[in-house]
Amino acid sequence: MTTEEKIKQLREELNHHNYLYYVLDKPEINDYDFDIKLKELQKLEGENPEFDDPNSPTQRVGGEVTKIFETVVHKYRMYSLSNSYSKEELEDWEKRVKKLVDGNVQYVCELKYDGASINLTYENGELKRAVTRGDGFQGDNVTNNVKTIRSIPLRLKGNDFPKTFDIRGEIILPYEGFAKMNAERVENGEEPYANPRNTASGSLKLQDSAEVARRPLDCLLYNIVTDNLPAKSHFKSLQKARDWGFKVPEEPELKNSIKEVLEYVNYWDIHRHDLPYETDGVVVKVNDLHQQEELGYTAKSPRWAIAYKFKAEQAITELKKITYQVGRTGAITPVANLKPVQLAGTVVKRASLHNADQIEKLDIREGDTVFVEKGGEIIPKIVGVDFKKRDPKTPETEYAKECPECGTELVRNEGEAQHYCPNYNGCPPQIIGRIQHYISRKAMDIEGLGAETVTLLVNADLIENYADLYTLKKEDILPLERMADKSAENLINGIKKSKEIPFERVLFALGIRYVGETVAKKLAKHYKKIDALMDATEEDLVAIDEIGERIAQSVVDFFASEENREIAQRLKSYGVQLEIDAEKLANQTDKLSGNTFVISGVFERVSRNELKKMIEDNGGKVSGSISGKTDYLVAGENMGPSKLAKAEKLGTKIISEEEFLKLL
Ligand code: AMP
Ligand code: ZN
Repeated sequence: MTTEEKIKQLREELNHHNYLYYVLDKPEINDYDFDIKLKELQKLEGENPEFDDPNSPTQRVGGEVTKIFETVVHKYRMYSLSNSYSKEELEDWEKRVKKLVDGNVQYVCELKYDGASINLTYENGELKRAVTRGDGFQGDNVTNNVKTIRSIPLRLKGNDFPKTFDIRGEIILPYEGFAKMNAERVENGEEPYANPRNTASGSLKLQDSAEVARRPLDCLLYNIVTDNLPAKSHFKSLQKARDWGFKVPEEPELKNSIKEVLEYVNYWDIHRHDLPYETDGVVVKVNDLHQQEELGYTAKSPRWAIAYKFKAEQAITELKKITYQVGRTGAITPVANLKPVQLAGTVVKRASLHNADQIEKLDIREGDTVFVEKGGEIIPKIVGVDFKKRDPKTPETEYAKECPECGTELVRNEGEAQHYCPNYNGCPPQIIGRIQHYISRKAMDIEGLGAETVTLLVNADLIENYADLYTLKKEDILPLERMADKSAENLINGIKKSKEIPFERVLFALGIRYVGETVAKKLAKHYKKIDALMDATEEDLVAIDEIGERIAQSVVDFFASEENREIAQRLKSYGVQLEIDAEKLANQTDKLSGNTFVISGVFERVSRNELKKMIEDNGGKVSGSISGKTDYLVAGENMGPSKLAKAEKLGTKIISEEEFLKLL
């Protein structure tokens, strides 16, 4: 088999397995085998850039950075839907439809998927473009980001699809993936996202497509728009879309009357909570495409479709008490303790009150009768108070002034919604939470030590901070509950092993507020040693790309504390990595800082990956495509002619491998 054939075969295999896994949910191989194939393809493509394909399955991992999203005019306008909220309104709609068309009318009922709408354009069976709805006339080109969504076919199956067509769908974030993302954010000391819908639509506009690729987004399709569809009804066109490899849910059903439509609506009003994603209603569409055409559009929406909106799930109950939770960063969250009430299939006992402003805005008081709602959020929220039921003697809520755990006076920084307990080193949930964060998987990943053991260790006065972990001895911990000889040994070994964890992860593990994994990497790369970071001023910090004032202030505050400085010095004395590896450091400079490179072709002395790493290690940026912002095109053998033409047109500096190596 030639290399080209091998590449082609791997692409087909990977596309097929993607389809089985993400569209049909019926995988035939495991993740490991999939990764092996993907790596093999990546390697072959890297070595043979002449076979580049923008729709190769390797493109799914992202990496392209879009600074400004290009505006694209929709070939077919993206209309809104008119809404209805009752049986009567649906019946009125049916009357209007019947007045305008002859003959029998059939309806397709679908769920209204709650996410961000997207228009996908296919040409010759390949994904060409993905554009957001925007104002309906024109939207943003988000193709690079959308390509990372595994269930969207980059190449279609079958052969009866029109040469060019648009297909529309909703980009969604299923509950499970959303909950997982939020759990990680909380673990990183970041605010959780409010709901799946906003997070899905926000994801489309992220600049870094690799970040989009990490989000468990999905895309459900509901409409093909083209002048030459090989189907005469909407229902059949959905089946065609499935045949071509699109993810079209199985819930849509064909109905013969509004009476049947209402049965569908009532069924899903109850069963929508069993779905893996959010839906806020049903969309009813006239099935016959010829009838659709006859009905046409109003100024805003098609006459041939209407949405029926479900009522938001609400419950009414009594707010018994407001309590306050302290997080690992000291952030205080007010919690409403409710008289247990049934809501959307679960018993709700607690609801989030967000922060002091929210309580004040809604004038929520203990003893109130409150309305509780459940949207896509994990914890339900209070949306209002039934003031008629309030006892006029109820006092206004006074927000906590002191930490419920340690009694320290709370503080609230200018411009921040949350109150904090500033007793950083003396407040039990902060002490325990911080050590739990330090040992967690993404931080120091200490094997043999779990979150509960940390609580035991702190409560037994064996440790007060994460530096103390390194002074623990086996004899100290053996008396702890359920601690056997072997597990004590594992724990000590795990702690010892954490001394090999690289600086950037240690920096993340320290638990500085707003310093998540990505920021920690940036800071580690920039400062190289903890001592340099410890002495950085706010001005120094904000001068770094993508470090804002909020982060800068937080880092400065952290190291303004004598205690934190001492803990850092102690960590260093125990052998924890508090600077970048000397070997790594030796190869790093700022020589290329401020320059963007595009690499194309095959090279003699170094591989493409080595080249990329050299650029990044020396402060430069690597981009996948040439634009006005590209400073250099590093050109190898067999470079793609289109890249060359573009570089010449834009006047980009074209340099050879030799010339690049000289730059360094
Ligand atoms: P609205 O934004 O309330 O005017 O509703 C129109 C939007 O509903 C469309 O732009 C789509 O993004 C979305 N939608 C969700 N599910 C469907 C569906 N099954 N059919 C048509 N539109 C849908
Ligand atoms: Zn406290």
